Amino acid sequence: MSYVQIEHMSKTFHGQHVLKQLDLAIEKGELVTLLGPSGCGKSTLLRILSGLTAPDTGKIYIDGKDVTDVSPKNREIGMVFQSYALFPNLTVSQNIAFGLEMNKVPKADIRLRVQEMIELVGLAGKEQNYPRELSGGQQQRVALARSLVTRPKVLLLDEPLSALDAQIRKNLQKQLRTIQRELNMTTVLVTHDQEEAMAVSDRIYIMNGGRIVQHGSPHEIYTQPHSEFVARFIGNYN
Ligand code: ADP
Ligand code: MG
Repeated sequence: MSYVQIEHMSKTFHGQHVLKQLDLAIEKGELVTLLGPSGCGKSTLLRILSGLTAPDTGKIYIDGKDVTDVSPKNREIGMVFQSYALFPNLTVSQNIAFGLEMNKVPKADIRLRVQEMIELVGLAGKEQNYPRELSGGQQQRVALARSLVTRPKVLLLDEPLSALDAQIRKNLQKQLRTIQRELNMTTVLVTHDQEEAMAVSDRIYIMNGGRIVQHGSPHEIYTQPHSEFVARFIGNYN
């Protein structure tokens, strides 16, 4: 069994089939991307994985355990969205420490883990700043640190970089990949940006209309698209 396994996942909203009998497998330490056009069901799949949305049918296993009916807070998942959603009245350190305080981690441990995380995401010197004093890229690094500091089993990223300028986005893609490898963090990244998927992924799952239409390494997908849709979407189409 894979580290994260999704089996026969289906979801309907008001009679509209948004996910159709979807299967997905992710190995420990992999960075897998869900890539597809807007509206194809990527965010819904991620929300089901996090426990925020319940599936109609299907099973989810994480680290060998059936978590289909486990509450979001007990799934040991970290999530980062496109909007940073930081607490405006808390400093960088306090934002990152928040989840640990909720979990009643001892104070000395919190201090250590927060500082470690701040260095990992490259925010040393910004500990006492407030979110409004940071750039978009820096705010998103706080959001990433806040998720990682709780040591989740799986990190879910829903278009975390799409609100950022192209150059900052490229830098953060590289940093994200470095951090993900350093922590061996099993990660699912949602994006509609083909270049981003090609640049950071171990494997890509291509979605269209609520189905997985192809999955494989970036190289496989690029050189052997199974359909005209994939070829067009990846941009390897003449
Ligand atoms: P993506 O993230 O790939 O853009 P989504 O998963 O957000 O796609 O949405 C897939 C489809 O499901 C869309 O047609 C969207 O309108 C619909 N949808 C998503 N969430 C809800 C909801 N809570 N209620 C009704 N329809 C929804
Ligand atoms: Mg989405």
